[in-house]
Amino acid sequence: MSTLDPSRDPALNPGVNPAELSAAEWRALLSPMEFSVLRQSGTERAGTGPYLDDPGPGAFHCVGCGQRLYGAVHKFHSGCGWPSFFDEIAPGALSVHTDVSFGMIRTEMRCARCGGHLGHIFDDAPRTPTGQRHCVNGAAILHVPEGASVAEVFAAHRASGRG
Ligand SMILES: [Zn+2]
Repeated sequence: MSTLDPSRDPALNPGVNPAELSAAEWRALLSPMEFSVLRQSGTERAGTGPYLDDPGPGAFHCVGCGQRLYGAVHKFHSGCGWPSFFDEIAPGALSVHTDVSFGMIRTEMRCARCGGHLGHIFDDAPRTPTGQRHCVNGAAILHVPEGASVAEVFAAHRASGRG
């Protein structure tokens, strides 16, 4: 498996524009599952991905580009088989689109920085403050514990080849 030059990793270098990464560079940067979800709008099988349990305080970042997407405080247990959140961490973290694939009309959310596919938003969580369930592929996100170095967590994750 090839690896991407760390100087081209958008999570480690704010000056790298993720839109300029080639598919080959994304493949070198990401695990096969991460690439499938983020770059090919794939879906991990229910109940198989990370973060079904609560990893503790901190934030969830886009595993592709490092953008902060969700706070641990936005996570809730929906029982749907994927990590669930009721809101983005800050306005503009996500971009939202209408997805008409597979004969359904769904609301898809993507990382606003790199355009990576994250999952879909459903209005079926009446017990949350927004009523929304952001159904996120765990492979698309990386938890950075409160107080930890984002760069160190990403570097360790890249080296581990998760997925
Ligand atoms: Zn991203």
